[in-house]
Amino acid sequence: MPTSMYTEAELKAMYHCLRRAMQDYEENARRLRFKRDPQTSNVLGEFAVKGNYGIVRVCYKHVADCFQELCTLSHELGHARSWLDGLHTTAYHQMLDAKTPLNTLTDPAMKQFVMEEETRAWRTGWKLVQFVGMGDKTAYETEADQALSIYADEMSLQHVPFVI
Ligand SMILES: [Zn+2]
Repeated sequence: MPTSMYTEAELKAMYHCLRRAMQDYEENARRLRFKRDPQTSNVLGEFAVKGNYGIVRVCYKHVADCFQELCTLSHELGHARSWLDGLHTTAYHQMLDAKTPLNTLTDPAMKQFVMEEETRAWRTGWKLVQFVGMGDKTAYETEADQALSIYADEMSLQHVPFVI
C-alpha cells in the first residue's frame, strides 16, 4: 500500500471535487453515473455500461484508505474515458457484463486488450487526479502497478512495471 504525502482530509476533498466535476458528465449522448456502495464481490471499483449510461462504482468496503479511494475513482473514470472515446469493443463489454473471471479468459487477444485497457485507464486516471491537485506520482504509480500486477497474474501474463 503506497503512502501518500496528503492528509485524509485533502484526499477526501480531492475525491469529492473529482466526483462533482464528472457528475452527470455527458458527451455524444453518453452519460456518467456514480455509485459508491459496499458491494459484496472483492473489487475496489468497477466500470459498467448500461445503454447510454456509463456507471462508475467505487466499493468503499474494499478500499483501504482515502488515497486508494481517490485512485480507484480516477481509474474507473479512466475506463469511462476509453468508453466515451469509443475504444471499448463489444466483446470487452460482453465480458464485463458476464463478470467473466479473468483467470478463465483464454483468448490471447482479449487478455491483451484487457491489459492495455487497464494500463490506459491508469494513465488517464493520473491526468484526472492531477486535475484535482494530487501530484504524488510515485504513490500513484505504486498503486497502479499493484493493481496491474494482479491483473497480469490472474491472466497468466508477464507483468510489465507501470510507469506514467
Ligand atoms: Zn480497471
